[in-house]
Amino acid sequence: MKSEGLIGFIGLGNMGRHMAANLAKAGHALVAFDAAGTAERAPPGAQVAASTDEVASRAETVFLSLPDGAASASVAQEIAGAEGRLTACVVDTSTIGVEAACRIAQSLAAAGVEYIDAPVSGGVAGAAAATISTMFAGSAQSFERLFPALKAMSKNPFHVGTQPGQGQAMKLANNFLSGLAMAGTSEAVCFGLSQGLEMKTMLDVLNVSTGRNTATSDKFPNRVVTDTYDAGFLSALYMKDLRLYMQGVQAARTPEDIATACLGVWSRFVDASPGADFTEIYRFIRDSSSGAS
Ligand code: NAD
Repeated sequence: MKSEGLIGFIGLGNMGRHMAANLAKAGHALVAFDAAGTAERAPPGAQVAASTDEVASRAETVFLSLPDGAASASVAQEIAGAEGRLTACVVDTSTIGVEAACRIAQSLAAAGVEYIDAPVSGGVAGAAAATISTMFAGSAQSFERLFPALKAMSKNPFHVGTQPGQGQAMKLANNFLSGLAMAGTSEAVCFGLSQGLEMKTMLDVLNVSTGRNTATSDKFPNRVVTDTYDAGFLSALYMKDLRLYMQGVQAARTPEDIATACLGVWSRFVDASPGADFTEIYRFIRDSSSGAS
């Protein structure tokens, strides 16, 4: 076991359970809690807490992996008010948007708790393999202090800034580009097919040419050509990120033309198939056009 004491982990869902397991595997002593049931989600060796209050009374640093800003705000509030609180630092790996991260940081600061905005990218498979990237916004001292824990969960921890919200901005920019690549590649493939090109030929060419992106290099060859559509990322979850990106862009008054078009097509897809995999937007775009087959 590492000597720095217990690390708290709240939210042991698709991402959190793997991140907590990787912390435990690296020898960090953990105390964990999930509102939907901790014992069945906590990694072997972790101490099972009965509540957020209990985690806050036992761990100086607490990681969160929660669904959205409302959940992070409510857990943060509980931590701040916990009886006999030991927690002095909350590291939030959830995707909650710039505004929510700033608001939570402010309310925790008023209670003397540091809030680190540290969302992650790389999906459930990346969380399991500890290959996710972490976009850490907080002080350099905290980044250094937390580096061993971050590295246990994440191959690439980046110190992207010192202000809460900067981690979210980085994550939302990344996810906007990821969805844009998926939707744009779908349209380009439809055009190519309509001209008699083979999808596989197109991908071979694109992947050694200037159109290469994460859809041409990964999603299409591994999820679309194979007809498996199994990226493991729900389209409805992606919409949360894209909407948060638009809110951030509109608040910042930076250009939004491409994002508006991207949001339009993703909204229509998600309205039609909220439970679909992220990669299934290809079928939606193909079937909504008259020329592609
Ligand atoms: P999830 O819904 O599977 O897990 C969230 C967990 O939090 C659940 O187990 C839930 O019971 C628990 N929870 C909710 N409210 C709680 C509360 N008040 N107290 C204690 N526990 C509570 O979600 P996920 O897919 O693991 O995603 C977690 C976060 O990571 C989200 O913000 C998501 O946007 C982000 N993210 C997800 C992915 C992905 O591919 N799934 C990738 C990158 C980032």
